Parts: sequence; structure tokens; C-alpha cells
Amino acid sequence: MLIPHDTRIALDTVVDLVNTAPESEPGDGLADTGALYAFAERHLISGVGVLGEKDLRAVQDVRSRFAEIFAAPDARTAADLVNGLVAAAGTTPQLTNHDGYDWHVHYFAPDASIADHLAADCGMALAFIVVAGEQERLRRCEAPDCRRAFVDLSRNRSRRYCSSRTCGNRLHVAAYRARRKEAAG
Ligand SMILES: [Zn+2]
Ligand SMILES: [Zn+2]
Repeated sequence: MLIPHDTRIALDTVVDLVNTAPESEPGDGLADTGALYAFAERHLISGVGVLGEKDLRAVQDVRSRFAEIFAAPDARTAADLVNGLVAAAGTTPQLTNHDGYDWHVHYFAPDASIADHLAADCGMALAFIVVAGEQERLRRCEAPDCRRAFVDLSRNRSRRYCSSRTCGNRLHVAAYRARRKEAAG
């Protein structure tokens, strides 16, 4: 599956956003405005201005909407959720080539709040995945003590674990065992 660069960046952002929720991490990774500023900085979300409690609550709300999309049992459910989220964010698609990046589309409105910015751009990235017929790639880690979200970009949709150190290791161990079994058999 060929994914445009900006879509990939938006996917990284939405995965990180969903994984700040208490159900993925112990404690809330977006518990205060300081954490929200750090998140915006980490994902190079420009022009967010001054962030307050209202922004924090709005982003937490958008985060739970995205979590629902990752939990969607089928493309129809995911599509309805993405449509609702993106419509509420009031998108204004604009071609741009700011800061040395090649031409790409910003979906958020020029004066969008950070919550609307995330809902529009990350929502459209997930829309792209649904359009590609790849909604099943939006996954939750299958490790028993881990529920982190991830996007499975492996060729054969075989990824089962998130990329955190512990779960990534499980994957390596499983692959190693499989190779040994193959070699032995
Ligand atoms: Zn941009
Ligand atoms: Zn995991």
C-alpha cells in the first residue's frame, strides 16, 4: 500500500494521540496543557497559539473518537465515525508547500483549534486508509497486557504487536521461533 508522506505523518500523530489515553498507558499522557504543548511540539503541529483547558478537553474528546475508529469492527462503522469527526471539524482543504515540504494538502481550516486541526488532518488520513480498503490495518496490540493502537503497514497485514520495546520484542521472539521451526522442520 503506497501511503503519501503527509498521510504517514498524520497516521503517526493519530496513533500517538490514541496511545496517550489511560487505556493504553498507565495514567493520562494528555493530563494537562503542558502535555498538550509537548504533544503539539512532538508532532510539529504549527500555529496552535495559546492552549487552554478548553483545548485540552476538546483534544481528549477527539482522542476518544479516534479510539472508537480504531475499535470499529468494519469499514462502514469506521466510515461513519470518520465522517462525523471530519464534518464537525469544518475542513478547508488547502494545497501548501510550507517550510520546505513538497506540495501536500492541509485539511484543517486556517484558524482551526488544535482539536479541529487533529480531527481534520488525522481524520482524513484514516479516511485514506478506509478508501484503500485497508480499515483492518487499524489495530490494537494483541499482547495481553497492552492495548496500544497501531497502524499495520506490513506487506501482508501480519503485524500483531505495537512497536513499544516490550511488545516489539515479543514480535522478534515469535519471528525467531518461527524461523527456527521452519529450519528444523
Ligand atoms: Zn503541512
Ligand atoms: Zn503492545
